[in-house]
Amino acid sequence: MAQLFDDGAHQGADEPARPNPSAAGDDAIRLATVVSAIALLHSSAPDSLIPEILERIGQACGVSRVQLYEYKRQPAGAIVAALRYAWRAVGVAAPMQKIGAEVSEGRDSGRPASLSAKGETVALLTRDATEPLRGFLTQMGVKSVLTTPVLVGGERWGEIDFEDCVYERAWSGIEIDALDLLAEMIGAAIGRARDLQEASDVNWIVEHSPVVLYRISATPPYPLVYISRSVSRYGYDARDLVASPGRYLELFHPDDLAVAIADINGIVAGRISEARREWRLRSADGRYVWFEDRTHGRIGTDGKIQEIEGLLVDISDRKSAEAKIKEISSVDPVTGLPNRKAFMAELERAFAAARRGGPAFAIHYIDLDRFKDINDVFGHSKGDDLLKAVADRLRRLRRGNTDVIARSGGDEFVVLQSDISEPSGAGALAARLLKAIAEPFNIGIEVHTTASIGIAVFTPEVTGTEEMIKQADLALYRAKDLGRNQFHFHSEALDDATIERVMLGGDLARALDRDELRLDYQPLVEVATGRIVGLEALARWDHPRLGPIGPSRFIPIAESNGTIHRLGRWVVDAVCHQISDWRAAGLKPPPISFNVSAGQLKGTVDFDRHLAERLKHWSVGPKAIEIELTETVLMETTQHHREIIARLYSLGVPIAIDDFGTGYSSLSYLRTYRVDHIKVAQEFIKDIKPGSGDIAIVRAAISLGRELGIPVIAEGVETEFQLDLVRQAGGQLVQGFYFSPPVPAARAAELLRQGTLSPEVAAGPSS
Ligand code: C2E
Ligand code: MG
Ligand code: MG
Repeated sequence: MAQLFDDGAHQGADEPARPNPSAAGDDAIRLATVVSAIALLHSSAPDSLIPEILERIGQACGVSRVQLYEYKRQPAGAIVAALRYAWRAVGVAAPMQKIGAEVSEGRDSGRPASLSAKGETVALLTRDATEPLRGFLTQMGVKSVLTTPVLVGGERWGEIDFEDCVYERAWSGIEIDALDLLAEMIGAAIGRARDLQEASDVNWIVEHSPVVLYRISATPPYPLVYISRSVSRYGYDARDLVASPGRYLELFHPDDLAVAIADINGIVAGRISEARREWRLRSADGRYVWFEDRTHGRIGTDGKIQEIEGLLVDISDRKSAEAKIKEISSVDPVTGLPNRKAFMAELERAFAAARRGGPAFAIHYIDLDRFKDINDVFGHSKGDDLLKAVADRLRRLRRGNTDVIARSGGDEFVVLQSDISEPSGAGALAARLLKAIAEPFNIGIEVHTTASIGIAVFTPEVTGTEEMIKQADLALYRAKDLGRNQFHFHSEALDDATIERVMLGGDLARALDRDELRLDYQPLVEVATGRIVGLEALARWDHPRLGPIGPSRFIPIAESNGTIHRLGRWVVDAVCHQISDWRAAGLKPPPISFNVSAGQLKGTVDFDRHLAERLKHWSVGPKAIEIELTETVLMETTQHHREIIARLYSLGVPIAIDDFGTGYSSLSYLRTYRVDHIKVAQEFIKDIKPGSGDIAIVRAAISLGRELGIPVIAEGVETEFQLDLVRQAGGQLVQGFYFSPPVPAARAAELLRQGTLSPEVAAGPSS
């Protein structure tokens, strides 16, 4: 830019000498220029601003017209100038062009462009101009003109002209500088407005397309760093989501989350470069919406994956169309078996026939045990493979064409067994079904699974098919309840058991208020010395009517009716309270562990907060306690609520893996989360008999622990023989009736005073 405040006048070569009409107003020009420049500097809407600026500067400089032209390229390639803004002094003729009119080449076309071919400021007398410009200027009554290019984004956008219709004018340095500065500021303002427009166009597209864009950091715990505002369509504010960066994980449908996390891990580890999946995400109103998600890793300058970028496309329309198709079809697309609808039609038919005196029949409700684990660990497509394989086995057990085998949804199958003379026939089929399912499946990997079966047999008393289904369902519930991998018939007694369960649920809520729960403590013993090196707190319920009830019975109820959260908080508080009491009594209790079940971590985010608060309340340090999580809980938790585990760690609370060997173990969590103890499930110890294979599992667990530097505890040691085997396998820590059953707090205090345990003190199982 030329200097603004250079006072020297630029004299045109053969300029007739005449006073500068604005001579009195050099300061006025400076002022007008600066005011205009500042206004432009802050403006992103030049349209409303430019007319007044042209007026201000035109008046200050005493010119006849100030005009801003935009260059337009004609189809033929010529460039013409279209008038965008104009100001003229009083008494000066209007410009020929209409402001804003599109120009076309031809006689009445716009002002010929490129006054200044080189893109510089040019002062010109009309009489010196070449045609066609000269003709144009003459027609406009212009005597002299000062023009300078306007650049937008570094490119020639147009030009701004001062025209004098009275004099052949000598433009002063100040006027030239003013025009230059103005051109520069106008160019910048137009550029900004254009960028903004483009940005808002892009935003518009993003906001209005059925797409949500997001980015997740590739560093655990993979916080959400960006999400497009289009997520507002699902009731969320993009800023809120980014502000609580782990929350997005909670929006996944529980069945989809594990795969989503596996994808993130896979991309971060470089195992997969991109993923394309379909999931359900919860919208703010609680509805699940189907999305197709395309993700890939974005590589940073260091060659490492920096972020995961993704694009969510709303596919709910397609999904609902698919659902409609499914609804009218009678075949399950995964297994090729009849679906629930087709089954119901068959059932109606069989029921009507039996009512008319035809043969009796039975229905078997089959539910795979822990199918969800298989889905979570191996992925949905392996889950589907397993369902297909199960369907094949069931088909093979079908007798003739009269039995119907269907998939009723999820991991549930249903068999209509026709023509049974007595219920034992149904039992025999169920036993065969269970046996067939328990055989290992080869679906690329070897998978073991079992099933639970509920059976309802037609009797003339049954009112309808719905009732039979309900009966089979209750029987299935019972089979699951009693430990899975078994079948149960529906019966009156069975109904009673279920009712009791429902009642117990209500009692449990009250039990917490009425102090009916207590904790027993079972010592953890160091084999070599007999020293008590830990205690496990185990919940007990003294039911006023039913007497003592064990946790294996009431914890599942607490999980199913939601009381588990209160119960869990009660346990935390009771343990801390007990530690504090024992300390006050001069005891030095070893770390006290307690059990935390899946449900406790699932629906809540404040478990760790409550724990921290209680520890503080009772002045108990984090190392004075230990949390026991089963493999399944730990695995689900690392996937669903990895934050919680991470936060427990950051509190410094040790974690033990309970019932090791019974879940689907993914050893990766042992590495991810440096657990403090591994507790080998008691079923491996309990069943150890001379020559049984279970000791191999114990030995393997102990050497795995040694390898990873994690102490292993053998649970459920009841006999000298078992203790010997554990010792031979290298086991150093045991818990079991051999040393002591779980005992009430007062007895536990005595044991702690005593410090060591020998088998002699064992009183045998008590509670
Ligand atoms: P767990 O954590 O594996 O606890 C060990 C279970 O084995 C206890 O059963 C204990 O009494 C029993 N046990 C200990 N030594 C022996 C032995 O030598 N032989 C045999 N046969 N059994 C032995 P309990 O108290 O009935 O607890 C069962 C399960 O209930 C626990 O298994 C734990 O998963 C759960 N549980 C107990 N208290 C709580 C609690 O406060 N919260 C939650 N979420 N779960 C709890
Ligand atoms: Mg335990
Ligand atoms: Mg255990």
